[in-house]
Amino acid sequence: MNTDEHRSDCAGGVGRRDVLIVGLGLAGAALAWTLRRRGASVFVVDREEQVTSSRIAAGLMTCVTGQRLVKSWRWDELWPFAVEFYRGIEAETGTSLLDVGPMVRFLNTDAEREIFEKKRKGELAGLVCAAPNLEADGRFQPSAAEGAIEILPGGRLRVADYLNVTREMLQRTDSYRCADLRLPGDVELAADGIRIPSLDLVVNRVVLCLGFAARGCPWLDWLRWNPARGEILTVDIPDLGEDRVVHAGVWIARQQGTRYRVGATYDWKSIDSGPTEAGRADLVGRLERVLRVPFEVVGHDSAVRPILHDLPPLIGPVPGVPNLAVFNGLGSKGTLQAPFFAEELLRSIGFG
Ligand SMILES: Cc1cc2nc3c(=O)[nH]c(=O)nc-3n(C[C@H](O)[C@H](O)[C@H](O)COP(=O)(O)OP(=O)(O)OC[C@H]3O[C@@H](n4cnc5c(N)ncnc54)[C@H](O)[C@@H]3O)c2cc1C
Repeated sequence: MNTDEHRSDCAGGVGRRDVLIVGLGLAGAALAWTLRRRGASVFVVDREEQVTSSRIAAGLMTCVTGQRLVKSWRWDELWPFAVEFYRGIEAETGTSLLDVGPMVRFLNTDAEREIFEKKRKGELAGLVCAAPNLEADGRFQPSAAEGAIEILPGGRLRVADYLNVTREMLQRTDSYRCADLRLPGDVELAADGIRIPSLDLVVNRVVLCLGFAARGCPWLDWLRWNPARGEILTVDIPDLGEDRVVHAGVWIARQQGTRYRVGATYDWKSIDSGPTEAGRADLVGRLERVLRVPFEVVGHDSAVRPILHDLPPLIGPVPGVPNLAVFNGLGSKGTLQAPFFAEELLRSIGFG
């Protein structure tokens, strides 16, 4: 059903659509755009929590991770796919959502420097190089800045803006509702499709893009979770003036003007907690070890990364429930992975 057809179906209730997406985080948004580009009619519901994993994410896409400078999983496929995907949305909506450019990483130990020397000529050739000397420029602690490298390319998506732009696109075509869907209570599996009486909606398929909220969903009680709660600070650093994302035990990413996002912690134990004093102290301590210039914390958030034990994202049909699919497990790489795996999900359910 194309977009014009579904408009005429909408008198009174929502009508009939091809796909209902539950959850507008990075997973649901990527799927909505992908379906739309294929000409499918989509409806999206989200319960509009102010703080979600996607809404507080820094949106970083980095080709090298961890102290061992490991190349990101499937980087050569995922990165160009993601850039083209987000650039397409920018072009269509007249917005600026994605920054692409070099990042800086401080190598803190001799072991890290050795790994860098070895890998720069091997698997990371063309992706990393020595950075101009930052030890003496006064903004960073000289000991921390010793042996900085530049990582290229890297990306940063303004995730909250991207989600807002996506919601506006959906609202313009009467394809969005703020609703907290009870699963499975609000959904009726019928012979002619899936009915959601509270929305007066019938769809051919439902895709659950619930993030860690899927933990409470009986249809998905077989998922093997390994969730990690993450805390992130918003910090004012008037004298830093750095557009590149800096990785130095913490990452520091410019938000706007003198505002930076600083993160992030990983906590596998107190999953249901909000922001903690310990998390804040940890990030502030790490920032003090890196920066010489003064800073002030102005915001502090916490959310749970939807990480599954089987690390690659989970995409595909829900066993035993006809026409129901799941898109989850984006872990700490939702920005990079969501566009590619939205496409893969549609393939896996034989769509289009
Ligand atoms: C501190 C922190 C920093 C991060 N930084 C980065 C980063 O720099 N780069 C990166 O790639 N990733 C980062 N991540 C990870 C990234 O945020 C996740 O990969 C991503 O958010 C997962 O998206 P999702 O759509 O699966 O889940 P979510 O973002 O949780 O979205 C699920 C949505 O579904 C809605 N929902 C749930 N249940 C229902 C229901 N029953 N009815 C209606 N709506 C419902 C929720 O309200 C939510 O809006 C970070 C995460 C954290 C916590």
